[in-house]
Amino acid sequence: MKVPVTKKNVTNKTMKSQFIEFLVRHNNLNRFGFDAWIFYPGMLFNDLSTWWGDRGVRLRAHEGLDFCFYRDTGGQDRSLREKTMIPMMYEGEIVRIGDDFLGKSIFVSHNIYDACGNRLHTIYGHMNPYSGVTIGKVVGEGELIATIADT
Ligand SMILES: [Zn+2]
Repeated sequence: MKVPVTKKNVTNKTMKSQFIEFLVRHNNLNRFGFDAWIFYPGMLFNDLSTWWGDRGVRLRAHEGLDFCFYRDTGGQDRSLREKTMIPMMYEGEIVRIGDDFLGKSIFVSHNIYDACGNRLHTIYGHMNPYSGVTIGKVVGEGELIATIADT
């Protein structure tokens, strides 16, 4: 579906998601003091290496960001646990739920567009969606949609 772009629905560059704040709060990551995410080579968008196993080369460039490790304010490295609850990045409609190799991927369509009219979608990988998270459902920013599948 192509929605005409008006000035109203062009993304405001200052519109920042509260995703991290929701993730930290819902999962009580602040109990140790949350300092920063840790991204090893292979965890960032377009990375070509793997960060697991023998740390070889990916078959295709990485198409996401792996939020997995963080540092607490005491300087200790920690990892997100299985069952960590995942909030929505922005309000949006669930448009697809498909299997991935560690769980399910949830595809969300947002009413946010760039200057060229491209619609923003976010995809949450390796999830166990909550039972109420179904195709066509509109979910608000910060609402919990899933837990992390087996890590
Ligand atoms: Zn990844």
